[in-house]
Order: sequence, then C-alpha cells, then structure tokens
Amino acid sequence: MDAQYESDTQLLTMHEVPPASTMTEAQRLGECCLWCDVSAARVECGPLYTDERHADVLRPMACDPCRTARLDYLRTHFECRLHIDDCECCVTTICLDAVALVLAHAVAREAAGKPDEVTCAHCHGAGPLKDLTVRPVMWEGGSSLHCGYLHLTPCPSAIPAWLREVAGLPEYLEPGETP
Ligand SMILES: [Zn+2]
Ligand SMILES: [Zn+2]
Ligand SMILES: [Zn+2]
Repeated sequence: MDAQYESDTQLLTMHEVPPASTMTEAQRLGECCLWCDVSAARVECGPLYTDERHADVLRPMACDPCRTARLDYLRTHFECRLHIDDCECCVTTICLDAVALVLAHAVAREAAGKPDEVTCAHCHGAGPLKDLTVRPVMWEGGSSLHCGYLHLTPCPSAIPAWLREVAGLPEYLEPGETP
C-alpha cells in the first residue's frame, strides 16, 4: 500500500485497531476475532500486532475475512484521496473517476461493517457517502494519522441562510436538529 507502511498488519494496527482499554478481555487475549467476535478456536485468526513486552496480556487476533474487509476499506479510502488530491477536475467538482472510487469505497465500508453515514471532520455534519457530498481525507493528529472525511467545500453549515434561500437549498439543520 502506501510507502509509509511496512506491512498490511502495521496499516491495520495504525488505523483500525482500537485502544486496548476499549477491548474486551477475550479480544485482548486473541480468543476471538477483534472485529467479528468469531472464536479463534473455530476460525483461522492471525495476530494483529505483537508487542513482546505485553504479549501475555495483549495479543489481539483477526480472522481473514475481517482482515481483508478492513484492508479494502483502507485501500479504497487511500485511492479516493490520492485521486482527488491529484486530479485537476476534482479541485472544483467531482469527476466520474472519483465518483467510481467513492462508490467503491462506500461498498468497502459496508463490507467492513461500517455505517453508510460518515461525519465531516470540519463541521461534524453527517451524511451518506453515496450522496457524493464528502471526500476521504487523512490528517496527522497526536502521534498518528487519521482517516476521515470532509465535505466537498463548502460545508453545508457554512452556506449562509440567505444564500440557501436564493439558491433554493433546503434549510440546514445541525445533526440531530429537527425542522
Ligand atoms: Zn473476524
Ligand atoms: Zn477527479
Ligand atoms: Zn463539513
């Protein structure tokens, strides 16, 4: 995948493995798949990361289907982002290539058990990826990289009410607000 990752396992560990404090004991000990809870005894599970110092208490595992689905989710996120960053058309609009990439990413999200709705990292407005109103982005925060989404500019909340009225756009509602 990207050059900054040494392996698929490292990629998953960086982006998809939650903090150990949020795992159940069975998840921490690799007794079930970290993501689908299928028992490691019943399904082939491989180690996600090995931290030799804590191997006795922390050795999460994942089954192959979950591993593949999560990698697909990350791969399609990266493909969208790299395309949009490089594409001249995608500066002002979203081109057909980008539409295909975003829709493939939406399918991969679903296969990885992630909700159809994504949240804009800027305005926190939520919407389905398939509406093509958001684009995948990645940013650095703390000591790690984060995968997320941003509205194709401007965020709906940034469009003033008078302009919404002139342009015939529906009233903007904050997430959870009702008309
Ligand atoms: Zn699994
Ligand atoms: Zn494009
Ligand atoms: Zn936004």
